[in-house]
Amino acid sequence: MVKETPLYIQVNEKDNVAIVVNTGGLEPGTVFSCGLQLIDRIPQGHKVALTDIQEDEAIIRYGEVIGYAAAFIQKGSWVEESLVKLPASPNLNELPIANQVPDALPPLEGYTFQGFRNQDGSAGTKNILGITTSVQCVVGVLDFVVRKIKAEILPKYPNVDDVVALNHSYGCGVAINAPEAEIPIRTITNLAKHPNFGGEAMVIGLGCEKLSPIRITPDRNEADILSLQDQQGMMGMVHSIMEMAEERLIRLNRRKRETCPVSDLVIGLQCGGSDAFSGVTANPAVGYAADLLVRAGATVLFSEVTEVRDAIHLLTPRAVNEEVGNALIREMKWYDQYLSRGQVDRSANPSPGNKKGGLANVVEKSLGSIAKSGKSPISGVLAPGEKATEKGLIFAATPASDFVCGTLQLSSGMHLQVFTTGRGTPYGLAMAPVVKVATRNALAEHWDDLIDINAGTIATGERTIEEVGWEIFHFILEVVSGRKKTWTEHWGLHNDLALFNPAPIT
Ligand code: CA
Repeated sequence: MVKETPLYIQVNEKDNVAIVVNTGGLEPGTVFSCGLQLIDRIPQGHKVALTDIQEDEAIIRYGEVIGYAAAFIQKGSWVEESLVKLPASPNLNELPIANQVPDALPPLEGYTFQGFRNQDGSAGTKNILGITTSVQCVVGVLDFVVRKIKAEILPKYPNVDDVVALNHSYGCGVAINAPEAEIPIRTITNLAKHPNFGGEAMVIGLGCEKLSPIRITPDRNEADILSLQDQQGMMGMVHSIMEMAEERLIRLNRRKRETCPVSDLVIGLQCGGSDAFSGVTANPAVGYAADLLVRAGATVLFSEVTEVRDAIHLLTPRAVNEEVGNALIREMKWYDQYLSRGQVDRSANPSPGNKKGGLANVVEKSLGSIAKSGKSPISGVLAPGEKATEKGLIFAATPASDFVCGTLQLSSGMHLQVFTTGRGTPYGLAMAPVVKVATRNALAEHWDDLIDINAGTIATGERTIEEVGWEIFHFILEVVSGRKKTWTEHWGLHNDLALFNPAPIT
């Protein structure tokens, strides 16, 4: 076997560290083509010192300070996590706002997809019967009935893709009037309005819950609600739900795909199980695809407050105006307070897997994470669970937790989520497809029946960021048109909805 050429990636010319590319890492004594010789064994994705770094000197990656040296670090040695002291977060009261708004990129014409036109003007990318719930109490019955619907009635309506129950843990035993209860309530309400339900979502309630079903019914129509306490026993419940479902399946079955402009799409971005490659392969490629989508008129959501917080000074200058910049800061401040109430700080992120993948701290993770946002101006900000109404690049404030971020982006109307991963996760969503983009070749090979797109080829120089970005863009249009399936759709994998409820449970 030919020995692989030792490679490292230096992102910015100012950087005094770089990451090792080679699968399995590199041994001491390895000499790179530039003459740099390794003193330590360095695992894949971990950092090598490109120069001598004195104690307390800044450690620089992405051209930004990711920390300060806890001790002297010799050139060619492994800059492992304990050598990187966490710097302070950017001060939210001293941020530049809208002072470097990028010029809008040139429009991208001629791209469309095949979608389902809705009466309210939106377009769906799937044709799903959505059954939402006002309280967790009904979930057992609903799951029983959904299995029966899928087995007995759904096959009669071939134009309907699926039946999805919006099960969640909210509805009763909660402080429903607490100010922050608006977040889970807004999320549940907007989930039922998802464009993939074609305005036909129905609501199953119990009858005595705190969250009254009418509050979460898309059109505030009593005819869309069924309360279990009004039904005659289990069989009465089953019969009534099935009857209500079939009426809707008949209407949904009449829907046909038609040509829709890309501007009808809402695409979410997320990362999970990140590693040190995320910020140089998958995230920049997704950022390039995000720019293509924005140029074609779509709405692109990027999220995960804890993973942009330490790079917020690079985002507020890109806000399209003062108002959007201030909204970004408002969401950061809210989250700082939320974390401090729980007596945790940002060092709760990254995860052990992130660290194993070479990420020293949340600053390094954030600098890689924001590469997903591309180069467009930031044209809007959504509080958690708000529905997207504007086009362009939008910051949708969510926690970084994969399932919570996924649920909140769905409530914002997301048709498809692009998910970058370095460590690997089989995460999926029932209401919308998730496209997995691997940061490393080794992961793409290890999980060749779960990863949709391999961005690892960027690290080895086989493909460019632009090439992978275009591949992601084209793949998105195929998937939303129903012509291709993601691996998680193929296998039928999806996670439960996970609400963000910062309010008390009673
Ligand atoms: Ca995440």
